[in-house]
Amino acid sequence: MMAVFTPEQQLRILSDLVAIQSANDHELQVANYLAKLLGDHGITATVLPAEPDADHKQAEPDRANLVAEIGSGAPVLALSGHMDTVSVGDADAWTSDPFTVTERDGLLQGRGTTDMKAGLAAMVIAMIELKAQGLPRKGTLRLLASRAEEVGEYGAKELARAGYMRDADALVVGEPSGWNIIYTHKGSVDFRLRSQGTAAHSSMPEAGFNAIPPLMEVLVRAQQEFNARPASDPVLGELTFSTTVFHGGDQVNTIPDAAVAEVNVRTIPQFDNDEAIALLKGLVGEQNRRGARISLDPYMQEPVVQAPRDSLLVRLATKLGERISGVTTPGGRRGRRHGRVQPAQGQGTRLPLHDVRARQRDDAHRQREHRQADVPRFRAAVPAPVRGIPRPGRLTATGRVADRAGRRPGATGWARSRPAPEWAPVRE
Ligand SMILES: [Zn+2]
Repeated sequence: MMAVFTPEQQLRILSDLVAIQSANDHELQVANYLAKLLGDHGITATVLPAEPDADHKQAEPDRANLVAEIGSGAPVLALSGHMDTVSVGDADAWTSDPFTVTERDGLLQGRGTTDMKAGLAAMVIAMIELKAQGLPRKGTLRLLASRAEEVGEYGAKELARAGYMRDADALVVGEPSGWNIIYTHKGSVDFRLRSQGTAAHSSMPEAGFNAIPPLMEVLVRAQQEFNARPASDPVLGELTFSTTVFHGGDQVNTIPDAAVAEVNVRTIPQFDNDEAIALLKGLVGEQNRRGARISLDPYMQEPVVQAPRDSLLVRLATKLGERISGVTTPGGRRGRRHGRVQPAQGQGTRLPLHDVRARQRDDAHRQREHRQADVPRFRAAVPAPVRGIPRPGRLTATGRVADRAGRRPGATGWARSRPAPEWAPVRE
């Protein structure tokens, strides 16, 4: 069966998406482009206007999410891709226009080429190709294209609240992951602690109440307590606690009346978000019973994601990955920044990208984002899908078309869905 798109047309779609400037805004334009593209191929897409800004209650007219489906009934496989990008930063530091996909030294340069308009393009292309073949025969493929992923993940929350994950059996996230099949992920909780004191001159500290020492004590105790937990996950590794922000006082001879700290805890199945919150609550309560006035606000939470690594989808992705790369490279590596892992201990496949591996993941948010382009190989590697299972170069749910094009990390992270509303694309 003839493919709907030639490789050149696929690259054109990526170029069109990169040309739309959607750094934390203007996702509506991306959504409209995708809706038109899908519509031209018989797939109805729904553009969902953004909810008003939660903090400012402002309408955001140029922002939207998009949902599109092929097939019907169960099971439901959801595909997640975000339509925003990080900002361009210093435009002068780019060697080419960041909104024009430019091939240079074997790389496709442009904002979003890696994170993650290529993954998004690949998912949309795959849906169109499958639809043209009358697939899937059973079940539903649901594209969830979200806004504001890079700042707050609001689009994902809106889609979850609207119920689009309620019946989903699995979720594939098209983030760049360096050819790693990521099926589990640490949780994360951001806390803000405010300590209220009473100002006084430092010659008479007894006339005031110093806001700093009780807060320091909570932080030191918390560090000790978290370190002392034996909790460790064989794949995700250790539970971690980090104090990342501390402000207190403004003059050396004044007893400070306020201090603020922020901490981040990365959680694991053996010690989850609720347990982390309870531990800190206990320590704060202890200080407050001794006269401190400290408030604790766990203002951002992402749950631990845990999918069985021997699940059907992990096995399928592994198999397809092997077919693409021709090599099985077992081994585990823990994502330092994100607590991410790839399948470890030979349980999965680390898809080799020999020449670019060292740079791949860190590249996504950098100034000159690029995707390794190997155009001749790309052209040779996009065969038509067969019998509903996409062939190499066209791994439906994980955006391999673009990966294959670039031999760059594309879209391999995925995990079983969590109950709404807690799911969200992994933060990059
Ligand atoms: Zn991303």
